[in-house]
Amino acid sequence: MSTRVEEQLRAEIVEAGRRMYARGYVASNDGNISARIDATRLITTPKSVSKGFMTPDMMVIVDLEGNKRGGDRDASSELPMHLEIYRNRPDVNAVVHAHPPTATGFAVAGIPLTRAVLAEVITTLGSIPIAEYGTPSTAELPEAVRKYIKAHDGMLLANHGAVTCGPSVTTAYYKMETIEHFARISLVARLLGREHLISRDEVERLQGLRGFYGIAAPAPLCTDPAEQGSDQVLCQVLEAPESPRERLVPDVAATLRRASAEGEIRLTYGELTALIADAVKHLRE
Ligand SMILES: [Zn+2]
Repeated sequence: MSTRVEEQLRAEIVEAGRRMYARGYVASNDGNISARIDATRLITTPKSVSKGFMTPDMMVIVDLEGNKRGGDRDASSELPMHLEIYRNRPDVNAVVHAHPPTATGFAVAGIPLTRAVLAEVITTLGSIPIAEYGTPSTAELPEAVRKYIKAHDGMLLANHGAVTCGPSVTTAYYKMETIEHFARISLVARLLGREHLISRDEVERLQGLRGFYGIAAPAPLCTDPAEQGSDQVLCQVLEAPESPRERLVPDVAATLRRASAEGEIRLTYGELTALIADAVKHLRE
């Protein structure tokens, strides 16, 4: 007989799956969701079912090694990726995996979502890296996710999709929404040809507000990207330029890339000043 906790989790997973499908984050039977029931058991979505049309009785119960403990169906072949996340993150109670098209487009292009551009993303997720490509349903995928999971609540999966985690099914699902929304906004800004980045000082101010919003900080920012090492990353890399006076800083590098592609240079007054300030700073160093 299932407990009230389990009943609640079944209902939350059905609802997250329905929203994921309605928003086009998955096609066909893609995606999977799981949650901790207690210290030794997880509940997860079954394989070969559209996540938009699940019923509470379809769920599968497994232990932390992935052995089936209950349910008529079999768990998703991506279950090892979920298990790897629970093993590395005792604070995590739920994992959501989907293929939202814009975020997955960034994952296919090999462009991580690591620029400080939206306050909401900085406070909730921080930086969203890309885990190396691994053949789906093999041990390669959990291994790729392992590298970033200690310091990130969400990441893109190269040429595949995205994965998020959190203290509940709903929070993990919302992080997936935030990633896709962030990817769409980044795409539009890049199509428009420019991005203003949030300065390092402002990023620190936003991180300071996490406590006020009741958000647990995913990980500190790396002071040097080399700190990330090659095994398991313990800090986040976020592109947020130093700027003592301005809270929003034009992305000068992107402006120059655009200029070289178009064969002419067009700068706003702000971009020109930032470029000169940057050059002077480098001369002094
Ligand atoms: Zn997938």
